[in-house]
Amino acid sequence: MSAPHIGFISLGCPKALVDSERILTSLRREGYQISPSYDNADLVVVNTCGFIDAAVEESLDSIGEALAKNGRVIVTGCLGAREDEILARHPQVLKVTGAHAFDEVLSAVHEHLPPPHQPFFDLLPPQGIKLTPDHYAYLKISEGCNHRCTFCIIPSMRGDLFSRPIDEVMLEAENLAKAGVKELLVVSQDTSAYGLDLKYAPRDWRGNSVKTHFYDLANALGDLDIWVRMHYVYPYPHVDNVIPLMAEGKILPYLDIPFQHANSRILKAMKRPAATENNLTRIKAWREICPDITLRSTFIAGFPGETESEFDELLDFLSEAQLDRVGCFAYSPVNGAAANDLPNQVPEDIKQERLARFMAHQSKISAERLQKRIGRIETVLIDEVVAEGAVARSKADAPEIDGQVFIDGAVHLHVGDFVQVELEDADEYDMWARLV
Ligand code: SF4
Repeated sequence: MSAPHIGFISLGCPKALVDSERILTSLRREGYQISPSYDNADLVVVNTCGFIDAAVEESLDSIGEALAKNGRVIVTGCLGAREDEILARHPQVLKVTGAHAFDEVLSAVHEHLPPPHQPFFDLLPPQGIKLTPDHYAYLKISEGCNHRCTFCIIPSMRGDLFSRPIDEVMLEAENLAKAGVKELLVVSQDTSAYGLDLKYAPRDWRGNSVKTHFYDLANALGDLDIWVRMHYVYPYPHVDNVIPLMAEGKILPYLDIPFQHANSRILKAMKRPAATENNLTRIKAWREICPDITLRSTFIAGFPGETESEFDELLDFLSEAQLDRVGCFAYSPVNGAAANDLPNQVPEDIKQERLARFMAHQSKISAERLQKRIGRIETVLIDEVVAEGAVARSKADAPEIDGQVFIDGAVHLHVGDFVQVELEDADEYDMWARLV
């Protein structure tokens, strides 16, 4: 199969020219051919200039010419910031991206003209190199974090929130699904804040305008027809809107929501996002909308200044919240974290004692919640097949951190299969089941 050809028109100043060179270099590296004429091109990219009125006119004329002679045009460069103006004159353009938007231009090209894949020559599969098994993959939607939790130094290392535009994320997700991935695990430092830095910019995805926002992302990922699991979600009010998508079965009824504590003074000392939300009320409301929702969380025991009664409040919260999966850490002073300077640091032996009490308290709750699922028929995803049978996960189990479902004797199954099982037994982490 011959490589796809791209026509390229570069207008404007030397900075724009350098941008064009970068885009062309990336396209060539990916195996595209650059076409010197409109006729031989499968698609044309116009790198525009918007410096003065004459340059704007020249750019708009060039877009018009490319549309007339080729028909499939992606616009980038300075004039891309005035998308409305371009679309008003040339509504047929496939995509408009701004200056320095290299990744966006490449994503747009990939979307409208997939890169050539030559299995005998390419060392890279289209979905990139994954370190996870073939049937699940992590989907990173943003980097960095706008919060300044006092126990955490991530923002000082990774900077403020920097979201990937939603069409780029969706293209990666779609490629993963096409490559056979059955479950996507959405990760970031703060998943529910997704898109805030981009002012929730709308983007075109498969002919629809979707916002770079947590809800739109969940909804669009739900259309891929594979399992989608949300991690690191903070309980902002808008998270409520995603729960109906879980109830409908569009995304997995699973929220990984790191509460870290329940006492309001400690949450404020931690400077936690959404520290003032009434989480118990929210959890109750979520379960009314989606009774099957699995809630996973993490907590810190022995945060500086934590009193015995504040710790007891945390245990009471656990009893009330009835979370399914919970991790807990004794507070440990990370080098550079602001919380290290807080008064009344908790002695190590008390931290450890509180951690042990926490785990004993929660493991009873987790075990009881698993017992309630015995007798149910559920869909599970096969992770591994060993001599004794198949090892699977239910919708309630994220890989590596949650439990497993063991199906004795089911050695004929394959990794990545979805099967129906009846849940027969459980301890506080894992379940045992038979095929139905
Ligand atoms: S712990 Fe707080 S500061 Fe650290 S990444 Fe999470 S939300 Fe951001």
